[in-house]
Amino acid sequence: MAENGEPQSNVTQDNMSDKSEQTIYDVVVVGGTAGGLSLAIDAQYGGLPLVRILESRTTVAFPHLIGERMLDVGFGETISSVELDGDHVVVTTNKQSYRSRSCLIANRGDNPSWQPPVPVEARTPDVAGRIVVDTLPEHVDELDVLVIGHTDHAVELTATLAARGARPVLAAKGMDATLLSPAADAMLRRLERERKATLLYRSIPDQIGEAAGLPMAFFNDRRTPDLQFDHVVFASGRTTPSAADANVSDAALASGLVWFLGEAEEGGPATAAPGASITDAMANAIFTDLERVARPSPAERRRRHTAAIDELREEHYNATITHFEPSHSDLWVLRVKPDHGDVSHLPGQYASLGLGYWEERIDDAVDPGLDDKWEKLIRRSYSISSRMFDEHGYLTDEGGLNELEFYIVLVPPTPDNVPGLTPRLALKRPGDRIYLGPKVAGRYTLNPVTNPSDAVLFFSTGTGEAPHNAMVVELLRKGHTGPIVSAVSVRQWADLGYRAQHETLAERHANYHYIPMPTRESDVPKKYIQDLVRENVFEPFGVDLDPASTHVFMCGNPAMIGIPEKADGADEGAPPVFPETTGVVELLVERGFTVDHRNEPGNIHFEEYW
Ligand SMILES: Cc1cc2nc3c(=O)[nH]c(=O)nc-3n(C[C@H](O)[C@H](O)[C@H](O)COP(=O)(O)OP(=O)(O)OC[C@H]3O[C@@H](n4cnc5c(N)ncnc54)[C@H](O)[C@@H]3O)c2cc1C
Repeated sequence: MAENGEPQSNVTQDNMSDKSEQTIYDVVVVGGTAGGLSLAIDAQYGGLPLVRILESRTTVAFPHLIGERMLDVGFGETISSVELDGDHVVVTTNKQSYRSRSCLIANRGDNPSWQPPVPVEARTPDVAGRIVVDTLPEHVDELDVLVIGHTDHAVELTATLAARGARPVLAAKGMDATLLSPAADAMLRRLERERKATLLYRSIPDQIGEAAGLPMAFFNDRRTPDLQFDHVVFASGRTTPSAADANVSDAALASGLVWFLGEAEEGGPATAAPGASITDAMANAIFTDLERVARPSPAERRRRHTAAIDELREEHYNATITHFEPSHSDLWVLRVKPDHGDVSHLPGQYASLGLGYWEERIDDAVDPGLDDKWEKLIRRSYSISSRMFDEHGYLTDEGGLNELEFYIVLVPPTPDNVPGLTPRLALKRPGDRIYLGPKVAGRYTLNPVTNPSDAVLFFSTGTGEAPHNAMVVELLRKGHTGPIVSAVSVRQWADLGYRAQHETLAERHANYHYIPMPTRESDVPKKYIQDLVRENVFEPFGVDLDPASTHVFMCGNPAMIGIPEKADGADEGAPPVFPETTGVVELLVERGFTVDHRNEPGNIHFEEYW
């Protein structure tokens, strides 16, 4: 056993007595709590074969782990002293003494001043007797029991109730799975998976009252209805026993070989982080040459809780994806329908979409600081596009619809940037939920186009055509008579998600012209939007690029647009400073066009995507 380095199996009391004289344990764990069991498992995995758990009761928090993980547990052993003897700690119980290289106190301390976090207003003694702290009712089979708490201890109580045939509901608002011990974390997932407990990760009742002779939990949030229970059990907060209560001598405490599971206190004994497995500090202090196995990161652990994710989605998402059509694997047209509110907007405006950091990514990139923001939303702006034709083939009237259309491309990770939203959006499908910002915004609209015979040119890169699609349709619907041109620069033909619609539009409307511009196709000469302006290719469409009768709208890559620096705040009369690579604005300004500013109308309008 110890000699061949194998983890030790559950050993009977008799042979333990013989062994205890000569055996030097690696760790003696006091308390078969979730944290104690986790640490014992962790130590065994880390290469320490001799780990003994001492438990004063007749069972441990999760009894199935004893067999599964071959844990060595001494039941009914109460600690009378923990002392230092040379390089070792000697742990003496009511049954025997153990010599060990280290000792972890993992049991809970008493906290008589603990008060339930929720007011309890039970008038009748019978109901009051059904509301308890830290203890379980004797008979719970088939009964509905509410457990309130968010620590390991709450999970332990819930698991015990489930094992005894109850239908427990755990109200665990404030639970952070990264602060649970690995064993409690795994147990919680198991309870969820096997549907043996209902977990309310983000809810806690704000009052326990009574109704019809039973405790009633009143929830003040829209997610959870008020519920009646047979019993209510509060799991009191985590408390670490004092060294005196744990019978640890001063010398043992000072040796650094005795650890306590719990929060470190100023000047207090060394602690393992709450719920944690062996901390690095602890490993360095006690265990040398540990071959430690890779453990899932806290975020990975949290991610496994499907109920937590469901609740986050329910809390944050307010819209449904009704349509998700890939133009190719990395380019999608999607439609989003909000649960409430209308979707009225002006063509050209944008809305915001959001998904939680808790959603899966399509790539292997890791979001920096994911642990801290796991429960947060990633929000990004998206221009509202247009389906262009309705189901009867007429120009679509977006105002009459109850959903918004978007045109979005997957952004790949680079050494400088891990994109947040689009790699998560990539895994979404019709029917999935999403966040849609309550406000549609933007002054990139057709408002400046007041003369129906003016030429209107739309220049875009990639998905920058989205707002233009809506604007083109609007102009045509309103009977615009001047020439309308939409030029779209992309890499390949496949990147033109609306090509068919544009071609149909151009066939039907003599004043509409579509210029698709793939730059990486052998059958098309490579041209950029800037080249179209330089060469004034628009003459055949009746456009002479006269600033007096032309509006130019540009959307997408800032390099194509080429905004002069400080265009907004520059001193009056100062010449604009254009970017090194010539953009369209510079070419148009040379022709007498002016940039449209809030207080200074012009005929160059733009929306930059980054
Ligand atoms: C007003 C406004 C409207 C927008 N409308 C759209 C839209 O209709 N469709 C759309 O796909 N994006 C649009 N965007 C960009 C969008 O908001 C996100 O920046 C983009 O989807 C990337 O988000 P992310 O979280 O995956 O990556 P982030 O971490 O935000 O990465 C940003 C980086 O991704 C690249 N990038 C951003 N957008 C694009 C793009 N469209 N094409 C190629 N590379 C890009 C840039 O290098 C940028 O620096 C718009 C942005 C603004 C400000």
